[in-house]
Amino acid sequence: MRLSRCLIPTLKETPAEAQIASHRLMLRAGLVRQTAAGIYAWLPAGLRVLNNIARIVREEQDAIGAQELLMPTIQPAELWRESGRYDGYGKEMLRIRDRHDRELLYGPTNEEMITDIFRQSVRSYRELPQAVYHIQWKFRDEVRPRFGVMRGREFLMKDAYSFDLDHAGAVRSYRQMMLAYMRTFQRMGLKAIPMQAETGPIGGDLSHEFIILAPTGESQVFYDAAFEAIDYSGGNFDHASDSDLARFTELMTTHYAATDEKHDAAAWQRVPEPDRREGRGIEVGHIFYFGTKYSASMGFAVTGPDGAPLHPEMGSYGIGVSRLVGGIIEASHDAQGIIWPDSVAPFRAVILNLKPGDAGCDRLCDELYGRLGTEVLYDDRAERAGVKFADADLMGHPWQIIVGPRGAAAGRVELKRRASGERAELSVDEALARLG
Ligand code: ATP
Ligand code: MG
Repeated sequence: MRLSRCLIPTLKETPAEAQIASHRLMLRAGLVRQTAAGIYAWLPAGLRVLNNIARIVREEQDAIGAQELLMPTIQPAELWRESGRYDGYGKEMLRIRDRHDRELLYGPTNEEMITDIFRQSVRSYRELPQAVYHIQWKFRDEVRPRFGVMRGREFLMKDAYSFDLDHAGAVRSYRQMMLAYMRTFQRMGLKAIPMQAETGPIGGDLSHEFIILAPTGESQVFYDAAFEAIDYSGGNFDHASDSDLARFTELMTTHYAATDEKHDAAAWQRVPEPDRREGRGIEVGHIFYFGTKYSASMGFAVTGPDGAPLHPEMGSYGIGVSRLVGGIIEASHDAQGIIWPDSVAPFRAVILNLKPGDAGCDRLCDELYGRLGTEVLYDDRAERAGVKFADADLMGHPWQIIVGPRGAAAGRVELKRRASGERAELSVDEALARLG
């Protein structure tokens, strides 16, 4: 895309309302604009990041056999009355009446709705286990929406639901999902650590939060650096192998990791000093096993192998897709701006034309742009070089291809890696080869 024709409204000044780095940078880099408290419009570059994150989430859900579907944002209140959560949910739930005076709500989560869909469609134990997920907007009328997309009121979540015939099956689904989560976060360049969590209003036994370190996090967290050294890829753990899942679970539960509520000072002292990681943490995902809570309360049963009705065992698994955009920036930025990991960057590279109107620069930039396609941004604006450098660092493109008049005359460009600051003067072919 040509930057001169893009809705990427970068800001030189720091917006006064933004208290944390990711919020400041998301506004300054032109990724989002707030339209009401805790509600954001995703501008083109921001949406590209959001879509890249959603794609990684989707690929890892698909890889463990979860099926994608799409449930609506608006739900009937009756479903929530069945599970008994309608009144309990309180003011966080946005309640709506339609023209026939029917009670609706904007979904904060989807356990009731998915249980209803399964009870209408799945009748026999032979049809289970199954897991489904969707990536859909949620609304929670948070008392204090803040930190930009980190705690919004409208936000994008991946929520998955598993249905199993017995406890052992549900535990297996839970472990597979945990493995998929570690892979998902690893691919985004994040060190997300699973920590035992309270089960909260959703109920249940097994529950983990996935937490990344960031100075503005809402809780204090402690973990063993051993988590960071583990390779979660398919080469190391096969999600379909019970022994691999057992080995994975062993690793996830023996190394120390805890939020302040569950912190055990004595156990912490046993972690070798250089391996102690401590700081504020942000929750980017949360998984729960809650047994038959919804299947029993909402009357969802399948015919079991012995002919008797059986309430499936369920789990639910959330990832804050829009929160991750902020979370990744918290984990990866410097004084100049964002440093996007390649896997989620809105553009793979930016071409900086330092002298638009110079025949050599224009020709070389056009050639690069033609060869690289729409995955790159072409800064063709009539701006000073200094402005372009600053904007490129602010926007955080993994690579900058810098084209100035002297180099262009010799057919050479400068290639800069945003993360390391490394620069090299190269021919066009060499530069393209480096980009891969
Ligand atoms: P929190 O403890 O941060 O309020 P939660 O426990 O209420 O979150 P879950 O119901 O577990 O959240 O939702 C799953 C995921 O959705 C969370 O791990 C988080 O990443 C994301 N999420 C929850 N609330 C918000 C919000 N207000 N804005 C953005 N993302 C959110
Ligand atoms: Mg939670």
